[in-house]
Amino acid sequence: MKTLSGLSLKEIEEITDSLKASKFRARQIHNWIYLKSVKEIDEMTDLSVKFREELKQIARVSDVKIKVKQVSSDGTIKYLLEYPDGECVETVLMRFDNRANLTACVSSQVGCAVNCSFCATGKRGFIRNLSYKEIIEQVLSIQRDTGLKVTNVVFMGQGEPLLNLDNVLKAMEIFNENFQIGARRLTVSTSGIVPQMNKLAELDMQSTLAVSLHAPNHEIRKKLMQIENKYDMKSLHTAMKNYVDKTGRRITIEYLLIKGLNDTIQSAKELAEYLHDIKCNINLIPYNPTADNDYQRPSNNSIMKFKYLLEHSGKKVTVRLERGADIDAACGQLKGKVS
Ligand code: SF4
Repeated sequence: MKTLSGLSLKEIEEITDSLKASKFRARQIHNWIYLKSVKEIDEMTDLSVKFREELKQIARVSDVKIKVKQVSSDGTIKYLLEYPDGECVETVLMRFDNRANLTACVSSQVGCAVNCSFCATGKRGFIRNLSYKEIIEQVLSIQRDTGLKVTNVVFMGQGEPLLNLDNVLKAMEIFNENFQIGARRLTVSTSGIVPQMNKLAELDMQSTLAVSLHAPNHEIRKKLMQIENKYDMKSLHTAMKNYVDKTGRRITIEYLLIKGLNDTIQSAKELAEYLHDIKCNINLIPYNPTADNDYQRPSNNSIMKFKYLLEHSGKKVTVRLERGADIDAACGQLKGKVS
């Protein structure tokens, strides 16, 4: 039995050819899958009943199940999706009230080997990579469930996207071509996998690169992110500079603000100095406390002071709106299991 979700137009044509149907039928099926997000073949109403019956004998729309769905008071929806092998990942749909943007935050791996100390996913360790089809199924599942069209995709769910780069790149190509999501509306986030960042720089794509920095210096970063032992802030700085030089594009710096650890005036000054020659925007993310560690969210006053000091250094700084904290869908809270 073939699964239609995730197939290219050419692959769908192979199915319609096997049923001795025209290439136009393949185009119709392709539209139903990617643009109209149907759940069943019977919903493809511009195909004849006879053809739908034939198609149902050899194909189905999807083999991914929504195991749990949670809706936050702010409209954020978190899904726990189950793949046919029983492995699960979380994917999140964020809506921003005054914008038409619907952003899917997708996972790229089951579990994660990077094991950042603030992250619920890292606690599980690495289980396996997701295929590109499994990645795009997350967006299709959201679209099928809500009937809405996702406009932006961020690879900020579970897993380190750059440790599954081939599948992530293929998924991005499909988001761009099949879902008609502009490359500039795709963001890949990394904990700082330097060789893969250099590879991305060579590809010169239109998408955004987000770097999870989270610390102003080597000592603090080591406490938060084990990856600092492998690719330290010095090599990360060189990789970011190389990326900006090669692509001309601005990097997004993600910085989790944790009370008493990296939210001080000294930290803001060190961070400004570290980033002074990197073309970037800075996204401050006040930490969302979880049961898994003792980190705390800074006060609003500290957040604003930190922001002010960075802005003073000439950077554009935003404080990320907190989405879905009441359903554990906020940054660092995804686990990929029912708990
Ligand atoms: S924050 Fe990202 S890179 Fe770090 S452990 Fe969690 S999923 Fe992995």
